[in-house]
Amino acid sequence: MGGTFDPIHHGHLVAASEVQAQFGLEQVIFVPTGQPWQKTHEVVSPAEDRYLMTVVATASNPRFQVSRVDIDRAGPTYTADTLADLRALYPEAELYFITGADALEQILSWHRVDELFELAHFIGVTRPGYQLAGEHLPKGAVSLVEIPAMAISSTGCRQRVRAGLPVWYLVPDGIVQYIAKRGLYRGEDDSAGVEW
Ligand code: ATP
Ligand code: MG
Repeated sequence: MGGTFDPIHHGHLVAASEVQAQFGLEQVIFVPTGQPWQKTHEVVSPAEDRYLMTVVATASNPRFQVSRVDIDRAGPTYTADTLADLRALYPEAELYFITGADALEQILSWHRVDELFELAHFIGVTRPGYQLAGEHLPKGAVSLVEIPAMAISSTGCRQRVRAGLPVWYLVPDGIVQYIAKRGLYRGEDDSAGVEW
């Protein structure tokens, strides 16, 4: 499951847990993006903060792992590279790529889209506010899965922190504490983030 995870929240975790259970997956690997090419001109928190938050949020689940492949690769993150790297690390594995309805809508605009469906089977999950549809994608390339609705986004969490509103219960407790410790999303000092 790729994402910016800025910050990771319970929508991500429910999606991963639900797909893990429904598909009987051995593990779900969270892959924080390096430089997200769709998010140019947005301020994205440092990769190490996003990586550490993802580790903190997933540490207690034995089926959840975090990979550094995207943050350790220079340049913009393309999912085709992510999947090729994971394939090299797990040559025998059957790979699935978990994505929310919003990202699935855009998948045809992703780089090297023809390669993507050969590298992994895609699983699109429902997300409040978006229509989950796979007709625009090659037949058999995608499974559509209904998951419990979590109307949570990282953008909303960042806005709440900036406005002084709580993010308790939207993100794991350790993430509330990590955000406070590092002073993320307060908007006073944008030097903590990197403008791509
Ligand atoms: P941002 O608002 O910064 O874009 P986000 O909440 O969309 O953050 P991402 O890191 O962009 O989080 O998303 C990673 C993946 O998780 C994407 O495939 C996205 O569709 C999916 N996802 C995020 N939030 C949810 C949610 N609440 N329910 C289902 N899927 C989600
Ligand atoms: Mg998003």
